[in-house]
Amino acid sequence: MRQELSELESQQLADVIDLFHSPEHVSRRSQEYASEARMTMDCLICRSAFATLFEGVENGQSDEELSEVIISLCAALNIESYPVCHGAVALNIPILTHIIRTTPEATPRAFCGLVGQTNDNPNACRLEDPRFEWQVDLPPPAPVKNAPTDPRPLKIAVITDAHIDPLYEANGVADCGEPVCCRIGQTPVERYVFNSEAEESIIEQSIKNNAGEVTLDLSVAKKLRELRSSRQTRFVTPRNAAPAGFWGDYRNCDTPIWAFDNVIDTITETHKGIDVVYYIGDTIDHGVWETTYELIDDMNRHLVEKIRKSFGENVIVVPVLGNHESQPTNQFAPPTVVGKDLNTTWLYDALVKKWGVYLNEEAQANLRDRGEFSVRVRPGLRVISLNNNVAYKYNWWLVYDPLEAKRHLDWLIEELYKAEQDGDKVHILAHIPPGVSDLTHTWTREYNRIVNRFSKTITAEFNGHTHSDEFKIFYNLTEPSSPINVAWGAGSTTTYSDYNLNYKIVDFNPATYLPENIVNYVYNLTEANLRPNRQPHWFQLYDMKNTYALTDLSASSMDDLVHRMVTNNRHLLDLYAAFYSKISDTRWPHCNDWCKIDNLCKTVVTVLWERSKCEELRSLFFRK
Ligand SMILES: [Zn+2]
Ligand SMILES: [Zn+2]
Repeated sequence: MRQELSELESQQLADVIDLFHSPEHVSRRSQEYASEARMTMDCLICRSAFATLFEGVENGQSDEELSEVIISLCAALNIESYPVCHGAVALNIPILTHIIRTTPEATPRAFCGLVGQTNDNPNACRLEDPRFEWQVDLPPPAPVKNAPTDPRPLKIAVITDAHIDPLYEANGVADCGEPVCCRIGQTPVERYVFNSEAEESIIEQSIKNNAGEVTLDLSVAKKLRELRSSRQTRFVTPRNAAPAGFWGDYRNCDTPIWAFDNVIDTITETHKGIDVVYYIGDTIDHGVWETTYELIDDMNRHLVEKIRKSFGENVIVVPVLGNHESQPTNQFAPPTVVGKDLNTTWLYDALVKKWGVYLNEEAQANLRDRGEFSVRVRPGLRVISLNNNVAYKYNWWLVYDPLEAKRHLDWLIEELYKAEQDGDKVHILAHIPPGVSDLTHTWTREYNRIVNRFSKTITAEFNGHTHSDEFKIFYNLTEPSSPINVAWGAGSTTTYSDYNLNYKIVDFNPATYLPENIVNYVYNLTEANLRPNRQPHWFQLYDMKNTYALTDLSASSMDDLVHRMVTNNRHLLDLYAAFYSKISDTRWPHCNDWCKIDNLCKTVVTVLWERSKCEELRSLFFRK
């Protein structure tokens, strides 16, 4: 690329690269805490990278040639290390170029608008593509019937986000500079620690916002280089990082197989009378730059076989697809896409073979078509396993056909309507929780409308994906003070990152199928790793009803609870902050008031960018 540039242009390119260069790998920098300047910068760099890609495709460059350009850019900007850039780009390029070639409406703005989506700022990196604006049709309200129920108690184990890493190496390298560490063959990172605040303020100076038209002032790059060369902003970290723990590691490491098996064995040994297992997705590790079809297939098989063998044939398992199950990670193509390295059908077909034993023919057909299904686990109770990874902001196929996501919600409405007609209750299991910046705005808004329409039929929802322990309250759209539904986060059986592992046991009322109590179990990883030859010491962390002094787990009780947390029962907010990371030694102590309120805010935001409930809680809290 460089030979084709004049001297001045080369200098400009060097300036741009210096400004864009991230002090740490992007994957390690929590997007939530990125400065606004850095976000604008990321948006600009994203659009430039995609513009390069679009241009290359138009000029007839091959996937290999384009990969080379993007890999160089990725490594030069320190977005990731060279091998990670190389692997991730090679896996994603066939999909990206296919979409660019076949979709006239695709633009760099659309891709970057999705990737650059943030929790609180709709203008962070505007999408500007009217195709993303759609609405579902909802049937008119109907009277809710009551079907005959089953008087037997219903006990469900909820497990999620296993992220099993078959390459996990106890005593291996836990500080490796790649997106996931503790894997065989990795080497310690030579990391510079930057005083990034000083850098960020210079980067801020480089962004000129002229009535919404953002440009870069490259003269600032000189100052930035001076600062970096003065060495006051960076120093090499000591190389004596502790090795990876036996049972897992709080750093960026996934779950050893033996630690996952221990979760399942612990549940079956400790809790008798479990009727159903809900598994909410993300079985595959975070080695996103080197996933293979075989790895995904093996781990998906191990997970369901381990659960089936330990719980026995009489316990029904309802699994959900996570964004990590696809190849490459996060990519879920519509069923009309059949090409090699492009389609997702291979995954759905493979899952029908693994999960089919729990599914009737119709459910199998739905799983094969879209990666989702509905099962009746008791008379009067249907469980819907919804594939909402299609609406994940990193799913490039959204740009190919934004309406594909709507097809999933149309199906959900059909299922809910059938259940309503029959008087059945429904539990919805979906990997990604609504309201966070991960799902598209339209999806979260329309999902909220569906929950509103069917709030009497839906009696519980469970999500995974965040790895933290949280819940979300839905409110009546026409009467916003009235809470109508709750989605319960399931946590994770990975430590990734800075979490303890957990599982939940939920008792349901057999007449209403509403949760009566949710009990969460954890162990302390530091302690477990000090005694690697002993099974981890699992204990009950809390019992929702008694720990928070709730009369029941209804939406109004939960709404009352979050209000008490910011007014006269603030010690409960401290508890919530502790439980959020499952009392992780490396996360909990760092959660100050701002962090506590941020966590709590997530409980009341179910539509992206609609934050009035959050502001209400925030102002109640800081009023003191
Ligand atoms: Zn996950
Ligand atoms: Zn996930």
